[in-house]
Amino acid sequence: VLILAIESSCDETAAAVVKNGREVLSNVINTQIAIHTEYGGVVPEIASRKHIENINPVIRKALEDAGVTLDDIDAIGVTYGPGLVGALLVGVAEAKAIAFAKNKPLVGVHHIEGHISANYVENKELEPPFVALVVSGGHTHLVKVNDYGEYEIVGRTRDDAAGEAFDKVARAIGLGYPGGPKIDKLAKEGNPDAIEFPRAHVDDAPYDFSFSGIKSAVLNYINSANMQGKEINRADVAASFQKAVVDALVSRAVRLAKECGMDKLAIAGGVASNSALRAAIQEACAKNNIGFYSPSPILCTDNAAMIGAAAYYEYIKGVRHGYDLNAVPNLKLGERI
Ligand code: ATP
Ligand code: MG
Ligand code: FE
Repeated sequence: VLILAIESSCDETAAAVVKNGREVLSNVINTQIAIHTEYGGVVPEIASRKHIENINPVIRKALEDAGVTLDDIDAIGVTYGPGLVGALLVGVAEAKAIAFAKNKPLVGVHHIEGHISANYVENKELEPPFVALVVSGGHTHLVKVNDYGEYEIVGRTRDDAAGEAFDKVARAIGLGYPGGPKIDKLAKEGNPDAIEFPRAHVDDAPYDFSFSGIKSAVLNYINSANMQGKEINRADVAASFQKAVVDALVSRAVRLAKECGMDKLAIAGGVASNSALRAAIQEACAKNNIGFYSPSPILCTDNAAMIGAAAYYEYIKGVRHGYDLNAVPNLKLGERI
């Protein structure tokens, strides 16, 4: 089964051709990071316009790279939520147009289901059930993946998403957007034990996360240093902040895997490309005899290969969408509309 997958939920216009959910024949990503950097974050209106400009060339290249034509494709998979409504609409409209013109089945995909499914591409032996730690720009979820397409959210963030915290702290210490990769890099030169930032926990909800406390502690640290006219060591701040976030993520994920008796743990989303997180979680899994899975960094951040992987498992379940498929900016994981 060949799926042409389309992703446009945020600031990446992406298309991919994926065979049987696990084999990526092409994966084209046009990122708008350089454009949005000027504004310190994603400007939704600009994102939509750029998607419109980019989507046809991106799809054409995905087909070309895969050496196939639209006639070879069995179904069109597309992200229809969650994300920026104007951005999502570009991909959804395009997918519907192709599905209609070529009379191909249309399969709408949840963006976070895509992030989780990125794990299937390079880990051919990975099958549910497993625990997934989803850490992206807008989501921080601990999920039991009970079966393909069957998700149980066991923990979530009460405030900022992990990626959002990275981006905000990066801005505060004068690194550009997106902040995650920049903190990751700078932290390598810093001491993670230099500053003690809080590891917030949420009472009575052992699997929930809270990152606004850590973020505020970093901002307070910077402000009070400024007031005292002291220079901060930015690498130490980055490393210490990163450690606080990584500790919170790893401890909960491993605890859930142990408590629910699942011996596999996968990470997903943009923050899953963080080198400190990958190292820490891999070590914790090894210690606890839990199999550790992760997509390579290029499949962690937004791409369409992951949407093709997710679309395949929906497709073989018989999920089909009509031409009334719409963008659903706040679509819930596991919800089918
Ligand atoms: P969502 O998937 O929740 O809708 P999104 O699609 O914007 O949000 P992703 O593309 O999954 O998010 O990830 C982008 C986020 O990942 C950004 O917040 C970015 O700072 C963060 N990120 C990317 N690389 C790293 C890294 N190496 N370390 C930490 N964070 C990172
Ligand atoms: Mg992005
Ligand atoms: Fe994403």
